[in-house]
Amino acid sequence: MAGKEILAGKKILIIEDNPMNMELAAVILESAGCIVIQADTAGEGIRLALESLPDLILMDIALPDMDGLAATGVLKREGSTGAIPIVALTAHAMKGVQEKALGAGCDGCIFKPINTREFAFAVAGHLK
Ligand code: MN
Repeated sequence: MAGKEILAGKKILIIEDNPMNMELAAVILESAGCIVIQADTAGEGIRLALESLPDLILMDIALPDMDGLAATGVLKREGSTGAIPIVALTAHAMKGVQEKALGAGCDGCIFKPINTREFAFAVAGHLK
């Protein structure tokens, strides 16, 4: 990843409760030049989204306090965060999850397990 700062200066909020997924996503995005903000609950994620107005939000679906899709709905209805791209982080095995995520207002999906070689490019593809 060194030298390939394809996401230089982009502020990305990761809302993910699995520490290993969080660590992996954060390390990859920081290597790509991102400013990474981390939340491990939906409530904290919503609070940090409103406070920091990131360029993009990565949203886990299964969170301890609220479904990630419900949290997406909250952020999409807010004036200040409504236009921020939200990409669902979903397990590939979950049936129909991509349709559900798009139906809930997500702008796309990235499947777990995270592909270390493609992740930063996938995120870049969802930035405006
Ligand atoms: Mn989870």
